[in-house]
Amino acid sequence: MAMKINDIPPEGLTLELKEKLDLFDTGTASTAFTAVLGIKPTGAGVFHIKGRVQSDPELECSRCLKVFSYRIDTELDITLAPEKALGTAPEHELDRSELDVEFYQGEEIEPLDLVKEQLLITVPMVPLHRPDCRGLCPVCGTDLNETDCGCKKDGPAEFGAFSALKDLLKK
Ligand SMILES: [Zn+2]
Ligand SMILES: [Zn+2]
Repeated sequence: MAMKINDIPPEGLTLELKEKLDLFDTGTASTAFTAVLGIKPTGAGVFHIKGRVQSDPELECSRCLKVFSYRIDTELDITLAPEKALGTAPEHELDRSELDVEFYQGEEIEPLDLVKEQLLITVPMVPLHRPDCRGLCPVCGTDLNETDCGCKKDGPAEFGAFSALKDLLKK
């Protein structure tokens, strides 16, 4: 899957990928994605990569633990520089656009790594299977999206979101 940088023509090339990758390092490449990546050399081993990545990774709702598929359709626009440039380039040059610069080692580029990274920064830190998920009862564990168990849920363990919702429901 890795591409030798010497195989990339001066005018650049476009990669179309439709594969699976191991997004959360579970040991199985189970996350299908499609990607279109335009790779263009800009000299001195540096490449500009622009493209689009689409995927529907399975995430676990952080409130009710339900597994749901999360739609990702994201654009990617990065500069890929050889890692050895880190040591030689004047520091301020790299600092300027630090966030958009990625580094590769040796003579090969691994497009899957770029796709994976792009997906990981797009996945929400606190996934919710729907924005108003009511979560699980902190007392008995019932899925409050399905039934109201009627537990008394006052107490220090209560989350802010729960009390806000309860206030809403009282109205
Ligand atoms: Zn949920
Ligand atoms: Zn309960």
